[in-house]
Amino acid sequence: MGINILTLCYLIASVTFIVGLKMLSNPASARRGNLLAAFGMGIAIVGTIFLYTNHETGEHLGNYPWIFGGLLIGGIVGTLAAKKVKMTAMPEMVSMFNGMGGACAALISVVEFNHLAKELSAGTISADAIQPTVLIIVLGLIIGSVSFAGSMIAWGKLNGTVKDFSFTGQNILNLIILAVTLGAGAYLVVDPTQSFLLYTILALALVYGVFFVMPIGGADMPVVISLLNSFTGVAAACGGFLYDNKVMLTGGILVGAAGTLLTILMCKAMNRSLQNVLIGSFGGNRAGTASGSGEQGHYKEISLSDAAMLMSFANKVMVVPGYGLAVAQAQHACHELEKILGEKGVEFKYAIHPVAGRMPGHMNVLLAEADVSYEKLLEMEDANDEFKTCDVVLVLGANDVVNPAAKIDAASPIYGMPILEVESAKTVIVNKRSMKPGYAGIENGLFFQPKTSMLFGDAKKVLQDLCAEVKSV
Ligand code: NDP
Repeated sequence: MGINILTLCYLIASVTFIVGLKMLSNPASARRGNLLAAFGMGIAIVGTIFLYTNHETGEHLGNYPWIFGGLLIGGIVGTLAAKKVKMTAMPEMVSMFNGMGGACAALISVVEFNHLAKELSAGTISADAIQPTVLIIVLGLIIGSVSFAGSMIAWGKLNGTVKDFSFTGQNILNLIILAVTLGAGAYLVVDPTQSFLLYTILALALVYGVFFVMPIGGADMPVVISLLNSFTGVAAACGGFLYDNKVMLTGGILVGAAGTLLTILMCKAMNRSLQNVLIGSFGGNRAGTASGSGEQGHYKEISLSDAAMLMSFANKVMVVPGYGLAVAQAQHACHELEKILGEKGVEFKYAIHPVAGRMPGHMNVLLAEADVSYEKLLEMEDANDEFKTCDVVLVLGANDVVNPAAKIDAASPIYGMPILEVESAKTVIVNKRSMKPGYAGIENGLFFQPKTSMLFGDAKKVLQDLCAEVKSV
């Protein structure tokens, strides 16, 4: 009976994962989707702790002090980290948590192999009989270890403690390490009595994870994290096979598939191949200007009062939010400007580029936090159709996503990336703090165009001052 209720718990959990994931695709339902999936995971965990019984001995899990101790510590650390994390540091946190998932999968493999090795040496099972299980163990070990080590390096790169590092021939060395790891894995599957190989594989896979992520430009970390996330999903699915646990299998497959799709979508939105991300070292040097086009002429500035005047008498204003808006935490001030201009009869909308900011959906999450209505957010294609009917486009801390070089400069590293074509509006006002480049490290010709004016300053301060000015117009 107990096992049937447990199967039901797993079924409910699997359904909540799938429905929750679907709900995450829409900003209006994303929060509820997250809660639903978390609730499902809660059911699966509680069900496993109290209802699982060993097929042969009929014993429950036991080890309760360890389990609840772990849950308590993990729960506290997770809650504090999630509450404290800044929106711009989210990829960092995802990377760290993803690494923990990979480590769990690898540890499961180590523990389960040792169980098998004991039985093997006691002669209670034969080497032939455990080969399929060892295959799953080896896969979980390799994928989980690579994901753990890679995620830790990605986390270090994002918080600045690990610098980009590469040397000539590194890609070849990486291939050799991978080949040796896989070879050792295959050998262990064929002859599970060679138990020393388990730790050799573990060490090699960890080294491969480090070397795999080390040379990738720090700026490409979000894509890499998404890829590693899919690895962790596959490693967890291996655990599901191992324990014949349906919910672990479903969860792992969903994470694996979602991570893979996200990786592909991010590459597409940046118009880059995954191969180019992994060995291209794009954006590694974020501080400098990598453009070959050099200085593009003169730019003009606009005063706060002129900007306020322009917007107050406009029929339609479109805001393009970018990474700088997130850094400045200016989303509430931006919503305030929307309300004040709305009271003056100005139509106000937001143009959202799929890779604006530093993680997929970054701008949607940011604006949702400030209670901006979803109907006001336009996706890139719709926004590009509407710019020509806009009197003013206000670019707030965005740079690459409005860089026309993506369309016209075949030598540009962002050439081919779809952009928000703000130049088709009557006037463009760009707010940022300086003329420094954005993420791709390249100059932006938009800033030098006759219809563009620069409004320098921190986005939050500028927006607060703009609100005051617009009120007084
Ligand atoms: P960018 O990084 O291109 O530009 C952001 C701009 O914000 C900078 O030029 C900076 O200029 C300005 N800025 C920084 N702080 C402030 C502040 N406090 N107030 C005002 N402005 C500020 O951002 P975009 O959003 O345009 O582009 C995102 C980039 O990230 C793209 O290249 C995309 O490919 C990449 N990317 C996105 C991912 C995603 O999933 N969203 C994942 C991986 C990469 P200044 O210093 O002069 O103020």
